[in-house]
This record gives sequence, C-alpha cells and structure tokens, in this order.
Amino acid sequence: MKLLALRCPSCAQALKPQNPEVVVLGCGNCSTAVSLSDTGLDTIALQFAAPAVETFDAWLPLWVFNGRVNITNRQTQGRNKEAQQHSEQLWGYPRRLYVPAWELPTETASQLGGDLVQHQPTFQRTSQPDTFSLVEAVITPDDALKLLEFVVLNVEAARKDWLKELQFSIEAAKPQLWAIPALQAGSGWQMQPALK
Ligand SMILES: [Zn+2]
Repeated sequence: MKLLALRCPSCAQALKPQNPEVVVLGCGNCSTAVSLSDTGLDTIALQFAAPAVETFDAWLPLWVFNGRVNITNRQTQGRNKEAQQHSEQLWGYPRRLYVPAWELPTETASQLGGDLVQHQPTFQRTSQPDTFSLVEAVITPDDALKLLEFVVLNVEAARKDWLKELQFSIEAAKPQLWAIPALQAGSGWQMQPALK
C-alpha cells in the first residue's frame, strides 16, 4: 500500500489504524466507516446488527454474502446416508455465507464461518449508533471470497462420512459489511447475538 496521509474522508480527522493490514476502520471522531485500499480511502456502508445484550464491548466486522455453493463432486470413504443428505440440504439452496473480517487464524475464521453458515443467522438491522468502536477489518471482499472455500471445506470435512474429495464452485454477490455487537471473551470475541 502507498503511504497516504490517513485522514477520514468525512471529517479529515487523522486515522490511526492498529493493524498494518487494516482494510476497514471506524473514524474515532465522526464514526464514519472508512475503507482503505491501493486506490485510497473511501467511506463504506456498514450494516449494524441489533445487539442481544444491553452492554457490549465492540462491534465486529463480518462479511455477509448472498450466494450459492454448487457441489459437483463429493467422494467419501465412509458410507453415511445422513451425512450426505445433510450436505445436500445445506447447499441445495441459495444461502447466506459469512466470513469474519477481523484478524483471526484462518482455521478459526473457517470454523466460525462454517458455524454461521449452518445456523444462517439473520441479523436484525439497527440504526447506526452516534459513536461506536469497530474492531478493524483486515479481510477484503476478495480475500473473503477465497476464505469461503475454506469455510465450505471445513463444513464438509467435519461430517461423519470421511470426506475424500470435494469439488465445488461458489456463486456469490458482492458482500455487505455488517457490524456485530460482541463481548470480549478471553483474547477473543463472542458475538451477541450468540449462535445457539
Ligand atoms: Zn471522521
């Protein structure tokens, strides 16, 4: 990335990202969500999910795609009709596909994305708070699309029929960036609403 004077495009306040890989952060002054890319700084629309708790620590950035996963070849070593059916039920329809945008090890991100895809949470949209603390996003929409492949693999490999081979394609529209209320939990975060 070019070294730019990082100023909020909305209020010109200096932005001080914590993470050098940052792609979206909130302006501490005017609470605009700002995206950073090779072409510069821009504002980005954020959808805020209604919190399930009264107080929480921060908002987590989450990419949400509308898409469809087409499994073209699924070979397993075990024979488990139920596992095969579950797979077909999950991917047989257009789905919401989720990729955590904050910094996480790939494996953790894939696991969480897989849990989300299987639960299909619909977040209730709420209005933008006057001030908010957004955890910095480090995953671009393009990276999120690549991570989705790990999400799908993760879900399928966890089934009880010993996945041997999987071929699939993902059709996904441009994702929306959601901000999900979260509580700090150890060194990580727990989304509120939590997955049941
Ligand atoms: Zn600002």
